[in-house]
Amino acid sequence: NHLAVAGHPSFHESVGGKVPLGLRRRALRVLVTGGAGFVGSHLVDRLVERGDSVIVVDNFFTGRKGNVAHHLQNPRFEVIRHDVVEPILLEVDQIYHLACPASPVHYKWHKTNVVGTLNMLGLAKRIGARFLLTSTSEVYGDPLQHPQVETYWGNVNPIGVRSCYDEGKRTAETLTMDYHRGANLEVRIARIFNTYGPRMCIDDGRVVSNFVAQALRKEPLTVYGDGKQTRSFQYVSDLVEGLMKLMEGDHIGPFNLGNPGEFTMLELAKVVQDTIDPDARIEFRPNTADDPHKRKPDISRAKELLGWEPKVPLREGLPRMVTDFRKRIFGDQGESTE
Ligand code: NAD
Ligand code: UDP
Ligand code: UDP
Repeated sequence: NHLAVAGHPSFHESVGGKVPLGLRRRALRVLVTGGAGFVGSHLVDRLVERGDSVIVVDNFFTGRKGNVAHHLQNPRFEVIRHDVVEPILLEVDQIYHLACPASPVHYKWHKTNVVGTLNMLGLAKRIGARFLLTSTSEVYGDPLQHPQVETYWGNVNPIGVRSCYDEGKRTAETLTMDYHRGANLEVRIARIFNTYGPRMCIDDGRVVSNFVAQALRKEPLTVYGDGKQTRSFQYVSDLVEGLMKLMEGDHIGPFNLGNPGEFTMLELAKVVQDTIDPDARIEFRPNTADDPHKRKPDISRAKELLGWEPKVPLREGLPRMVTDFRKRIFGDQGESTE
């Protein structure tokens, strides 16, 4: 059993070692909603490794049991199939609230962001747990300020096709601050910028997963619009590190968590060609409505207050994701432990 348990010497080695006896951190009970998803499952790996007891609540809408299957024999781990739109009673110390159908083809789910977040805040209030919301860079809409700083209020179309996602997250942020101010709840808000890595949904329509799957399947890379729009791509281990630092730190946020390395979609296609198949063709397609033209995080606040910054550049992270996609597309379709 490779599991590190708090109080056991290997636990302290795994968190940096040489922690004086009196300062040992107590193992926590942590709820991760959406923990069977892409980001959630990587977060769960780190929490379990740290020695915490972890409960995942997930309705498997876009997540997969295979993402957490390697923990199922661990007595400190539990998965509950549950939709956060329904109330739930649990006892935990911290709640990482990730549940949300995040990918563009599942946009129409304002309700999860609003009712689901309300329920998790109600739960946190009843049990006095610290609550972390995973919000998104989409709250900045099609930004008129570049790069985006947390103090920017955004440029969002409230009735557009993307509004169920961006307005949903904006409401989730509002609710989170309401519970903080009104019920004294300890809260944390992360605004996550485009993140990629192993266990990403293969066919969810996001650009990195699309290009990688297309190149592996010898299909053309579909570039929407003229391909000059930009995004900044963060490797998932950097994000997980940032989320944990935010939860453990003293600052509410919001904090931008993203990699400031900015790429046009054509540049991204080039990185994918270089990594997988130099002969991969590019096919232009019409872009979707309200597509943000530019996006790049200003991460000064997270650097200063959380001591966090991303470490993995795109050209290093992409090959790690390709290994996982190759396995899932061509080989064993089940569990992914990357
Ligand atoms: P994901 O789809 O892989 O994970 C979301 C998880 O939530 C899935 O396991 C899904 O089954 C679960 N879920 C959805 N609706 C639910 C419901 N009603 N009840 C219970 N579980 C439910 O997506 P992800 O990329 O891992 O995203 C995790 C969080 O990070 C989301 O809140 C998302 O908005 C946020 N985020 C992600 C990115 C990114 O680039 N990956 C960017 C910005 C924000
Ligand atoms: N809630 C929950 N689990 C709990 C406590 C509350 O799911 O342990 C839900 C509850 O059903 C409600 C929401 O959280 O829909 C908000 O709860 P709160 O107590 O803040 O509001 P109220 O119920 O007073 O409207
Ligand atoms: N995009 C693309 N080809 C694809 C999928 C997406 O060119 O196959 C573009 C899309 O138009 C957008 C960018 O890539 O400009 C990022 O899209 P994604 O859905 O991954 O993330 P988001 O728009 O939410 O940042």
